[in-house]
Amino acid sequence: MLSSDFSRIAETLDMLNKSEADWIHCDVMDGRFVPNITFGMPVVAAMKKHTTKPLDVHLMIVEPEKYIADFAKAGADWLTVHLEASTHLHRTIQQIHQHQMKAGVSLNPHTGVMQLEDCIEELDLVLIMSVNPGFGGQRFIENTYSKIATLKELILRRNSKALIEIDGGVDLQNHIRLVEAGADILVAGNTVFSAKNPVEAIYHLKHLTQNITA
Ligand code: ZN
Repeated sequence: MLSSDFSRIAETLDMLNKSEADWIHCDVMDGRFVPNITFGMPVVAAMKKHTTKPLDVHLMIVEPEKYIADFAKAGADWLTVHLEASTHLHRTIQQIHQHQMKAGVSLNPHTGVMQLEDCIEELDLVLIMSVNPGFGGQRFIENTYSKIATLKELILRRNSKALIEIDGGVDLQNHIRLVEAGADILVAGNTVFSAKNPVEAIYHLKHLTQNITA
């Protein structure tokens, strides 16, 4: 949603409801963990009213544990916190589950996958940042592919159910290779909202096809 026109959130969600998008990804930024500020609980709650799809809320904020109950109330179905922002990550994951949400942990580009070794069994999702977080429309970091491979190996070895989500710079050039590398979920912002036909762009992302006219 970060790349969408915020003055037309309801229209955008109507379009997405009719598309093959599986989830709605909401980037919450606080101006502290990342330089940018986006939106918080009231906007997430407003989005919830207009969408038929699960809300995948990505908190790029410091002290995310303080806001778990608020985002549950706002309607988040998936709640992802940053490892770098969480001093007591294991407890935070438990709190997310206690609020009946799926729990995700996100890793910045500099953070190694093996830092999740002692909590991977608890996670429903691992989000790999494939750009530095803070702004939409950045260039994809190539090291992401090897990170996905390391994470996939960890997940299989520990029999974890965690899904692998890739966020940042996903487009219709790298989507196939990302899924082949082991990604389960692709977050697409500009690729969808800069397309002439967003529904068609979503179709191509979903079906791993490249024949795009948009
Ligand atoms: Zn995100």
